[in-house]
Amino acid sequence: MTKLNRIVVVGASLAGLRAVQALRTADFAGDITLIGAENRAPYNRPPLSKSVLDGDDDIALPGAEQLDDDWLRNRRAVTLRADERQVVLDDGSEIAFDGLIVATGASPRRFAAQPAGVHSLRTVDDALALRTELAAGPGHVTVIGGGFIGSEVASTVRRQGISVTLVDAGSHPMAATLGTHGAQWLARHHQRHGVELVSGVRALGFDGETRATAVLLSDGRRIATEVVVAGTGVEPNTDWLRDSGLKLDNGVVCTSSLFAEGQPSIVAAGDVARWSHPLYGGALVRVEHWANANEQGALAARNLLSGPVGAQVYSGVPSFATHVHGARIQVAGMPSLADEERVLIDEPAEDRLVVAFAAKGVLVGAVAVNAPKDLIRLKRAIAACASTEELAA
Ligand SMILES: Cc1cc2nc3c(=O)[nH]c(=O)nc-3n(C[C@H](O)[C@H](O)[C@H](O)COP(=O)(O)OP(=O)(O)OC[C@H]3O[C@@H](n4cnc5c(N)ncnc54)[C@H](O)[C@@H]3O)c2cc1C
Repeated sequence: MTKLNRIVVVGASLAGLRAVQALRTADFAGDITLIGAENRAPYNRPPLSKSVLDGDDDIALPGAEQLDDDWLRNRRAVTLRADERQVVLDDGSEIAFDGLIVATGASPRRFAAQPAGVHSLRTVDDALALRTELAAGPGHVTVIGGGFIGSEVASTVRRQGISVTLVDAGSHPMAATLGTHGAQWLARHHQRHGVELVSGVRALGFDGETRATAVLLSDGRRIATEVVVAGTGVEPNTDWLRDSGLKLDNGVVCTSSLFAEGQPSIVAAGDVARWSHPLYGGALVRVEHWANANEQGALAARNLLSGPVGAQVYSGVPSFATHVHGARIQVAGMPSLADEERVLIDEPAEDRLVVAFAAKGVLVGAVAVNAPKDLIRLKRAIAACASTEELAA
């Protein structure tokens, strides 16, 4: 393996920052170049759909303050020449590397025509634009997409006393993530807190010439509204890798130790990486959660230094937590892979729910509402590939 003198990290957010920190901790003595398309230091995205919309500006990401001033911000990588080991930037400059860390994350899916008044939510600028509109006191907001960001925004907006309609193409918001019982619970929870749910229909577009005045639905209905938030999922940022020779398929396809397939000098981490997960029989998974980017950024960097032979596999149990209308919802593992769903606790009076998910008798996921200790126990069981019999014991 070539001695690494120059490491380039593309993407200056959570995974990129953790990669740089890990290189420094490992006493890497060569050059590190961090390249980020945004014009600011790495920051925390989870508050963008929560506290930032309520006026709290704390988005600090611990460790970002330790970055030297000489990293390249407001600069986008547009091409990777993997064979020549060069990254080309949007100003035409070429940056050579011996090792590359791809940490370019993901971007929101947008409507083909997205008029004023329709907001996506990925960056701090997106959040501040939405916050300004909410502060103007609209009478009604429509949230399109009932994933975790859509559900969080609906919750935040309701808390501000604004009426909300949540439009979701599935049978219930977050059905793919929470399973049947969890999603049914969430639907009832939204309704109890005054969110109008419109499920099983797609938003096709908008009325309004200069600014959206209504959302047009696939069943012919039209929702008059003043502000729209589009939370319709994200796509991994791999456009710049299109002609690179890297294998791309809903992300950068990686080995279990985060090396881009067939590339001993290139690793990927965070929302952009789709890696072979040892806990799920080597299935390729891509995870869009904070803890995943946090851990993978560091491990990908360490693996790049050690090379593929000495590398450590990444077998972290995917997990995330959110608050919706005051309830703490936690998910561990991959409920979407399950063929069986078991309700372990259902206490409506306490708003507590715990559901375990299994595939072929092996635990693969868990959902917990207001039950953090149960979630910890189940997360350990998922990591140990416990059987459903062991769970019952
Ligand atoms: C509103 C919101 C709320 C969230 N809430 C939660 C939550 O409650 N819990 C949870 O677990 N997760 C949450 N997440 C997800 C979490 O924030 C992400 O999983 C995490 O940010 C992924 O980090 P990353 O570094 O992989 O990618 P990103 O944070 O997407 O960063 C990628 C960076 O790369 C840059 N970039 C892209 N292309 C290029 C290029 N060609 N050249 C240079 N730079 C480039 C981008 O501008 C960006 O700065 C939330 C996300 C959002 C948007």
